[in-house]
Amino acid sequence: MPDCLYCQQAAPPGLPDCPHCGMPLPVAAERIRLRRLRRFQWFCAGLALFCAVMIYWLPRSLG
Ligand SMILES: [Zn+2]
Repeated sequence: MPDCLYCQQAAPPGLPDCPHCGMPLPVAAERIRLRRLRRFQWFCAGLALFCAVMIYWLPRSLG
């Protein structure tokens, strides 16, 4: 059973927010952090792909 980090009350599992103070529970915060990390990884992959295409393309467009 996760305890709320803010009011230290026990919160039932499965809830995104603490029923006592309304702050996000650690489990939900972890899921949000993971989703943000996943989005950041996609952003980096897209940026790397963009750079690869540009490196491949630029000499040709100059010459
Ligand atoms: Zn709370």
